[in-house]
Amino acid sequence: MSKAQVTIPLAIPDVRVLKTEFNQSGDLVITVESTKAETRCRKCGRGIGKFHGHGNWMTVRYLPVFGRGCYLRYRPRRYQCLECDEHPTTTEHLDWHEPGSPHAASYDRYLLLQLVNSTIEDVSIKEQASYDSVLGALERLIATEVDWSQYSHLGTLGLDEIALKKGHRDFVVIVTARLADGQVVLLGVLADRRKETVAKFLRSIPEPLKNTIHTACCDMYEGYLEALREDLPKVRVVIDRFHVAKTYREGLDNLRKREMKRLKAQLSESEYKQLKGSLWAVRKRREDLNEAQTQVLNLLLEYSPELKAAYALLEELTAIFDEPISKRTAQTKLRKWIEHVIASGVKCFDDFIKTLKRLWEPITNYFVARKNSAFVEGLNNKIKVLKRRCYGLFNLKHFFQRLYLDLNGYRLFRIRPPYVA
Ligand SMILES: [Zn+2]
Repeated sequence: MSKAQVTIPLAIPDVRVLKTEFNQSGDLVITVESTKAETRCRKCGRGIGKFHGHGNWMTVRYLPVFGRGCYLRYRPRRYQCLECDEHPTTTEHLDWHEPGSPHAASYDRYLLLQLVNSTIEDVSIKEQASYDSVLGALERLIATEVDWSQYSHLGTLGLDEIALKKGHRDFVVIVTARLADGQVVLLGVLADRRKETVAKFLRSIPEPLKNTIHTACCDMYEGYLEALREDLPKVRVVIDRFHVAKTYREGLDNLRKREMKRLKAQLSESEYKQLKGSLWAVRKRREDLNEAQTQVLNLLLEYSPELKAAYALLEELTAIFDEPISKRTAQTKLRKWIEHVIASGVKCFDDFIKTLKRLWEPITNYFVARKNSAFVEGLNNKIKVLKRRCYGLFNLKHFFQRLYLDLNGYRLFRIRPPYVA
């Protein structure tokens, strides 16, 4: 060891250090002893101080020091109760180590900080800890369902579904809330998106908290809308523009497919070849296209007057959603847009217009919600990141724990040692 030495305080109260040494792997091993002289009787709860020998030596992992692994080694004391019958003994309880855990409490917290936005596999490799020991930290510190008592005001509710496997139709629903301070918290992970499942969860929200929900955000799925209507009738339901846009872009895409078929029969092979990539040219916003895609789009619209008319209507519609306008103004503009579609003879938006009329209120509520906050975008970005990371998580309880950690981990487990003012 180098001669240069530093002394750092051990951030654990009520212990004295008996010895520090390095084991064969170069990890630091600190032998400590509790300075507490009593504990609570496990039978009667009285404070008891009659020493009754030591338990077995325990070695628990602690926070790394200067890039080395670190362990605490100690022998818990036993105390005897003279008040209870048969004088039972109790092993001392230490704030910094939960009995049965291979980690000191602060190392559990450290592991969970590493686990935020990461995976158990990855953390176990970096920490040279077993998969089960990282999982154990998660099990010890993160509950498997919501603790309603930690919230006093929910504000905005979000219902989003996640496919458990790419391309599968098995969905779980994640329920989040966006609190008044902008923080997004996880409230539940539901096994499926049936209306009864969603309604059952909504009914489980304690009544006083229910009254603090002013907005609920979801997609167009009828099960959500019905459950919300029945169980949270006073809440303003909002369908995010992202889901709306998906529906009207689908209409345009169907027309594109039909037109491509027609053009394939009519154009020469080399002419048709120039339309390669038409899917993305039509699907993306015009301002996001590169030069080649812009050329494909312009050529396609030249060949197809119907698609050209439909594309102009699509841009008109998107522009309405881009504008920071009131709900009432938006409704006026959307009515005009429907008139334009009818007058144009374009048919590819017929299904969308039906949907728009049926879900008129929740779709146009978007303009109210956006005016009050940017919650839709914020929530969706979080959900998107979570979605990518959650393929392959099948246990709903683990799912809840992992999402909860991703959303709250930085706030909960940032290391703030007690010796820092
Ligand atoms: Zn007792």
